[in-house]
Amino acid sequence: MSKKVLVLPGDGIGPEIVAEARKVLETINLQMSLGLELSEALVGGAAIDATGIPLPEATLNAAKQADAILLGAVGGPQWDSNPDFQIRPEKGLLGIRSQLGLFGNLRPAILYPQLAHASTLKPDVVSGLDILIVRELTGGIYFGQPRGYRTKENGVREGFNTYVYDENEIRRIGRVAFEAARARGKKLCSVDKANVLEVTVLWREVMNELHAEYPDVELSHMYVDNAAMQLVRAPKQFDVVVTGNMFGDILSDAAAMLTGSIGMLPSASLDVDNKGMYEPCHGSAPDIAGQGIANPLATILSAAMMLRYSLNAGEAADRIESAVSKVLDQNLRTSDIMSEGMRRVSTSEMGDAVVAALAE
Ligand code: NAD
Repeated sequence: MSKKVLVLPGDGIGPEIVAEARKVLETINLQMSLGLELSEALVGGAAIDATGIPLPEATLNAAKQADAILLGAVGGPQWDSNPDFQIRPEKGLLGIRSQLGLFGNLRPAILYPQLAHASTLKPDVVSGLDILIVRELTGGIYFGQPRGYRTKENGVREGFNTYVYDENEIRRIGRVAFEAARARGKKLCSVDKANVLEVTVLWREVMNELHAEYPDVELSHMYVDNAAMQLVRAPKQFDVVVTGNMFGDILSDAAAMLTGSIGMLPSASLDVDNKGMYEPCHGSAPDIAGQGIANPLATILSAAMMLRYSLNAGEAADRIESAVSKVLDQNLRTSDIMSEGMRRVSTSEMGDAVVAALAE
């Protein structure tokens, strides 16, 4: 049975890195007869230029019909000055996430031992790091009502937001995290601020209730401020971390930086049926776009996650991940992960090397 993959190159380095991920997907598709059908559509700034809006109807429809979506990145300074926030590239992504109900964000922070020097932390603290941060993506303080910015009667300005989760929202992201922990190291740390925020008192209660369904997973709780400290002090203590939208936004970026190489980190955003959108953690890198020097590995690893989580092709995902490890063993490096004694390669040379490693 064929599986539809919608590819959204986006802006900046997006088209360059996605072209390499396509090469890899097409190779594994042939090798393993996966039945993938790839098609492309416009999103973000590229869609604004072509149609006037960041998420054209045709793209949204194609996204709804696809089994999985692979995205490059969106955004760039040429679209940032538009005063209408609806016509910003990022609205294209937010639109897909909300229209498809992609509430579960999975962000692995993996440090390949070959790149241990790329971290600002000591190699023994981070070498072999393998954490998965599960972040709730469609609720919490970023979406809670009421919200606003106003001037009070006394002339003083105030801004306000609402941090709210109901138990169903907490339970569904909790399940994603418990399932992920069950498939990995069987340790789950739930991060909250239950000493201060009632919404996270509920968060903790629901996580404890869910734990009864996953007795094989060891559950712990940590306040977010301590979690931030522990992530930089001893990150290897974590296996899977689950948290709300805002805490997850911050902690996942901190975890990404432990690896020192943003060009290596994939991510997934899933709905209740594990349909998802997959994208590198980094943005569209306008500063290096068009130069052929961007690292395509985060996008290639996102394609591997897509095969594993949405397309039921775990073995294909394993093969891609080991091909990436092989090219690192061959000392091939794009500029962002370059170090002494290594061979500098371009975006397409890196993609070709992964394809060659797959064929071995
Ligand atoms: P960025 O991640 O695009 O770039 C940060 C730095 O990392 C830059 O120096 C860039 O050159 C480098 N970098 C990023 N990816 C790289 C790669 N694959 N290989 C080598 N180097 C890489 O973040 P930014 O500069 O803050 O944002 C640039 C644009 O991207 C903005 O318009 C922003 O809104 C957008 N953005 C989009 C997404 C997304 O599409 N999901 C995410 C973050 C930022």
